Amino acid sequence: MYLKYIRASGFKSFADKTEIEFKPGITGIVGPNGSGKSNIVDAIRWVLGEQSVKNLRGDSSMSDIIFTGSSSRNGDNHALVALTFDNTDHYLNSEYNEIEIKRVLYKTGENEYYINNSKVRLKDIADLFLDTGASKESFNIISQGAIADIVNSRPIDRRVIFEEAAGVLKYKKRKEETLRKLAKTNDNLEKINLLADELLVTLTPLKEQASIAQKYLDYNETLQKQEIALIAHDISKLSQDEKETKDNIEKLTKEIQDLSNTYTVDDANLEKLKLEELKLDSNIENKNKDIMYLVNELSELESKKQITIERKKYEVDDQKLESNIINLKEEILKLNNTLKTNNKELDILNKDKATKNLEIIENKKILETIEKDRDYNQNISNKLNKEILQINNKIEIITDNINNDSKLPYAIKNILNNVRLKGIHNIFIKLIEVSDKYSTAIETSLGSSSNVLVVDNELVAKEAISYLKENKLGRVTFYPLSIIKGKYISDDILKKIDNIPGYIGIASDLIKYDKKYKEIVLSLLGNIIVVDNIDSLNRIGKLIDYKYRVVSLDGEILYAGGAIAGGANKLNRGILSEKNELDNLNKELISKKEELDNITKTLEDINNKYQNSLDNYNKILRENSIIEDRIKEKNKYLNTLNNDINTKNKELEGTVNITNNSLDKELDDILKRYYEVSNNKEVLETELNKLKSDKFNLNNKKLELEKKYKEYNNSYNNKSNILKSEEIKLGKIDVKLDNLLLLLNETYSMTYERASKEYILDIDPENARLQVNNIKAKIKELGIVNTGSIAEYERINNRYEFLTKQKQDLEESITNLLSIIDEMDEIMKNNFQETFTKIKEEFAKVYKTLFKGGEGILSLTEPDNLLETGIEIHALPPGKKLNSIALLSGGEKTLTAIALLFAILNVKIVPFVVLDEVEAALDEANVETFGKYLKDKKDRSQFIIITHKKKTMEYADTLYGITMQESGVSKLVSVKLEDKNI
Ligand code: ATP
Repeated sequence: MYLKYIRASGFKSFADKTEIEFKPGITGIVGPNGSGKSNIVDAIRWVLGEQSVKNLRGDSSMSDIIFTGSSSRNGDNHALVALTFDNTDHYLNSEYNEIEIKRVLYKTGENEYYINNSKVRLKDIADLFLDTGASKESFNIISQGAIADIVNSRPIDRRVIFEEAAGVLKYKKRKEETLRKLAKTNDNLEKINLLADELLVTLTPLKEQASIAQKYLDYNETLQKQEIALIAHDISKLSQDEKETKDNIEKLTKEIQDLSNTYTVDDANLEKLKLEELKLDSNIENKNKDIMYLVNELSELESKKQITIERKKYEVDDQKLESNIINLKEEILKLNNTLKTNNKELDILNKDKATKNLEIIENKKILETIEKDRDYNQNISNKLNKEILQINNKIEIITDNINNDSKLPYAIKNILNNVRLKGIHNIFIKLIEVSDKYSTAIETSLGSSSNVLVVDNELVAKEAISYLKENKLGRVTFYPLSIIKGKYISDDILKKIDNIPGYIGIASDLIKYDKKYKEIVLSLLGNIIVVDNIDSLNRIGKLIDYKYRVVSLDGEILYAGGAIAGGANKLNRGILSEKNELDNLNKELISKKEELDNITKTLEDINNKYQNSLDNYNKILRENSIIEDRIKEKNKYLNTLNNDINTKNKELEGTVNITNNSLDKELDDILKRYYEVSNNKEVLETELNKLKSDKFNLNNKKLELEKKYKEYNNSYNNKSNILKSEEIKLGKIDVKLDNLLLLLNETYSMTYERASKEYILDIDPENARLQVNNIKAKIKELGIVNTGSIAEYERINNRYEFLTKQKQDLEESITNLLSIIDEMDEIMKNNFQETFTKIKEEFAKVYKTLFKGGEGILSLTEPDNLLETGIEIHALPPGKKLNSIALLSGGEKTLTAIALLFAILNVKIVPFVVLDEVEAALDEANVETFGKYLKDKKDRSQFIIITHKKKTMEYADTLYGITMQESGVSKLVSVKLEDKNI
């Protein structure tokens, strides 16, 4: 690579468009003082990116470099300089063979940069020349008077020249960029740490809240299931209680009504009796009055009779006969009287007998009715006893079947009973729990697989099989837990059937089991679809293209592929059906026993009633027989009386004939009247007695009715109390039912019908109630729950995790950047050390050559800190003993600096070197040496030399002259060798 052209216009004294063409080798630029030679060096520096006005010899601002005008010309409004490089060797990292870099500055201060006429940034130009030995930091452009600066400068300021030579500037630049990135990354990391810390402050309590909320949701889900099932169960139980209570109330109301009716009848009877009693009392009183009246009359007649008899005593001869006749007449009258009274009594007895006969017929009828009722209930009782016996027998048989595994094949039973075989669980069907409604479907789905034996692993199965073989017991299928894997219905089929009416579920989801059997359950039931009936079976089977087995609740099976099986199979019931039948039988037994208890109670009531009626009937019979006996006696007595009267009449007749005396008519009348009254009195007395006896009976009846009334009252009160308590019970049940329905509706937005269909209570209700209360207590223990915290926690945690991930990425970036920096440091140290060592060696040599002896040494100020060390120059011209290079003469300093320049040129390829009067301070001999050196190196580097020294000009291959003919404006003129003395 070499500099081919400089084009300038408006730059300093180069007001006109000026183009200087350069060739490889040495180009000399000559001209008088102030003609503008150094402005060419400034122009090159400026294009390469110089930003220091001072380095460009300006005053205050960059616009100082724009042509300011002269006495005859106006200034320019912009400066332009373009450098064209030959890059056919592609020394610069570009595909172009020729590269033009251009800088334009406007008076406004605006800069423009171009590479091959494309607008670029200053940085792009700097990057292009970085580490090429031609950048603005390089030692290849030495301005006028600046050659000794390298010797005079601080060790650390020299470092950049060595870095450029070592080619580490690009690393340095990259390192700076990397450090900037590192600072930015650290900055970001700090920000993220702050954000993450802030989030963590929110996240920690939120996590706790979310965990509580999650627990709450979990509890609530379980609670909901259990509580809804429990409420549904309670509602169903309460509805049953409600029905029973209503029935009881109806029954009691009817009984009370019946009692009330009976009471009304009895009450009427009692009133009737009371009326009769009053009548009787009045009759008795009348009778007593009548009797009293007759007693008075009798007493009067008695005294009249005595007086008449006394008077007649004096008129009659045969006193004795007369007295006999009177006595006989009196006796006959008395007997007739008695006869009349007894006839009346007989009439009454006959009437009583007729009444008793009616009572007997009536009570017999009552007894017959009760007997019929008793027989009817007795028959029911016998039937129930028989049924209970039958149910008990069935229960005994099924229980025996279940307990003794009587349906299990002999081989399985043998294995299960063999205590030496370990790791045997049970037959599959006994490891699962199935509710009644699914038992047929599950049993049918399983078929013979119900009896597969679940074992720990294949070794257990192997041992069991050899036991079966040895003892020739038969075959058994084993399902080792360690091997069997579940089967599933594919998701697309599940999606297809999920909402189809009639679809119930996957068989494995409808049963309960210990989770350790999950794979086995899934292997046997995981790919079987359960539907409600045969119509759904066909419809869903078709829908899934007969890919899986479908089973209906009634046990119809549609096999994969389309074959259908169905029908009843009662004889070959499985364990599940038997268990369910046992449950049903036990329920039936309880209900039948309740029925029997009711009938037995009714029978007891009927028997009591029958006994009471029978007692009453017997009592009536006894009373009837007493009446009959009395009638017989009365008839007998009446006969005797009649006989006596006949005998007395005959005797009287005989006596009257003997005496032929007749009693006086007055006495006869008195006697007649006397016995008539006496007879009347006796009749009245008999009637009075009858009335008294009637009253006594009436009183008995009244007492009986009153006793009955009391009993009724007790019974009425009892039943009324029971009715009241039943009504209260019903009220309570209704309130409970209302509450439960309201709870279901308000808390779970659910109807009872849906709850009872979808939520089945699968454990004991009391246990469920305990669990529900337990969960409620746990929920209460949780305190305030914020369910929104779950989503909030997830959101913030995601953010936190995102930040943590970013933090990790940044930390990783930092580690990477640090390792890149380390790597670059290592490269820079190695390259720097290597280049420094080479330059040091070359400097020693070149120094000796230029000074023809002496010693030039380069050393590091901090050898252990290669990245920051400065470079010390020690120069000992021949024969001199100096402590500091500051003490060197101007020429010595220049020569030392030139030695360093040439040492660097020996070590590193520098494409072009621009030297502005660097040899000015050298004597003739040293200029000669300088010139030779240039010549020596001109094949490696292009030299552009501004000089006033003729000796130097002699070494130039091309010479250009700069003049300032028009005042203030530099012009390029070609110079021939003979003009070299300009
Ligand atoms: P010497 O041999 O004495 O070192 P030189 O040839 O190197 O001289 P320069 O230093 O390159 O000369 O040129 C200096 C000249 O450039 C001065 O005459 C100065 O007036 C002129 N100059 C510098 N800046 C501007 C500018 N912005 N506009 C016009 N002329 C300028």
